[in-house]
Amino acid sequence: MIDEPSVACPYCGETITIVVDTTAGRQSYVEDCFVCCQPIVLDIDVDPDGALAHVDARPENG
Ligand SMILES: [Zn+2]
Repeated sequence: MIDEPSVACPYCGETITIVVDTTAGRQSYVEDCFVCCQPIVLDIDVDPDGALAHVDARPENG
């Protein structure tokens, strides 16, 4: 299942939409903000039934 949650960039505060493949389960990866180009660490939790549970966006070295 593909979900497209919105998160606030921890650097510039801009709301960005990310694409999450929830079939991959719990995941963590870095994606550059398309507004300020800084690396955002995305921690993604997926429910056992495959639904997106929680998305956390934080600075790479914070
Ligand atoms: Zn940004």
